[in-house]
Amino acid sequence: MDKKTAIVTGGNSGLGYATAKKFCDLGIKTYVIGRTKERTEEACAEMGPNAVALIFDLTKLDEIPQIIQKIYDDEGHIDILVNNAGINMKKPFTEVTDEEFEQIVHTNLFSVFAISREVVKKMKETGGGSIVNISSMAAQYGLPQVIAYSSSKTAIEGMTRAMAVELAQFGIRVNCIAPGFIKTKMTAKALDSDTDRKNKVFSRTPMGKMGLPEDIADAVYFMCSEESKFVTGTVLPIDGGNSIGF
Ligand code: NDP
Repeated sequence: MDKKTAIVTGGNSGLGYATAKKFCDLGIKTYVIGRTKERTEEACAEMGPNAVALIFDLTKLDEIPQIIQKIYDDEGHIDILVNNAGINMKKPFTEVTDEEFEQIVHTNLFSVFAISREVVKKMKETGGGSIVNISSMAAQYGLPQVIAYSSSKTAIEGMTRAMAVELAQFGIRVNCIAPGFIKTKMTAKALDSDTDRKNKVFSRTPMGKMGLPEDIADAVYFMCSEESKFVTGTVLPIDGGNSIGF
C-alpha cells in the first residue's frame, strides 16, 4: 500500500491539531476536519503538504456519506479515523435546555457514529484499519455541570467496545483514549476563571501537572500503529494518574 490515509475530526486545534500534525510529520496523508475555514486552512498550512483541510460541520449527518466517499475515491483507502471533535458546556443540571443537550450529544456522539459507519464500510473493503475515539475522564467520573458532555463521553466508551467486538473479524480495531486535564483552550478557559478548581485538579493528579496535546497525539498514534496490533476495545487514560486516585 502507498502511504496511509487518516481523518482527524476537530484537527484544527488542541488535541486534534497535535494528532494531525504528528500524523503529517510521519508521512500520513491527513484530512483535517474543522468548521472554521480560516483556522482549519491555517492549521493545515502549518502541518505541511500531507495535510488536507476539510471544512465541514459534523452535525450535518446526512452529508457525511458523500464526504467519506470523496476521500475514498481520491485516496483508494482510509486507514485511520480519529474521532476527536467535541464540544462542552458548563451549566447547572436543571438549567440545561433540550436544545443544548441535543447539540452536545449530536456533536460528540451522533457524529462519531455516523462518520465511523461510513469509514467502516470502506475499511471493510480494503481489509481493515484503526479507529480511535477521544473520550474523557468525565466518562468515568461524576463531574458537576457537564451532564450532556459526560453522557456523550460515557456512551462513546460503550460504542467503542461494541464496535471493537463486531469489527475485529474485519481487521478493524477500535480504541478509546481518555484524556485527563490537558492544556488547551477548552481547559484553559474553564480553569483560568476558577483557581479553586485549578488547585483541586493539580492536587488530584499524582503527576501534579496538566498534560500536553502531544501526550494525547503520542497515544493516538500508538493506537493506530502496528505497535498496538493486538489491542482493541480498550480505554486508555492519559491523565497523569488522575483516574487511579491519589
Ligand atoms: P478544542 O476546543 O481545542 O477543539 C475542538 C475541535 O472540534 C475544533 O477543531 C473544532 O473545530 C472541532 N469541532 C467542534 N464541533 C465541530 C463540528 N460540529 N464539526 C466539525 N468540527 C467540530 O478541544 P480540545 O482539543 O480540548 O478537545 C478535543 C477532544 O478531546 C474533545 O473531544 C474533548 O472532549 C476531548 N477532551 C479534552 C480534554 C482537555 O483537557 N482538553 C480532556 C478530556 C477530553 P472548529 O473550531 O472549527 O469548530
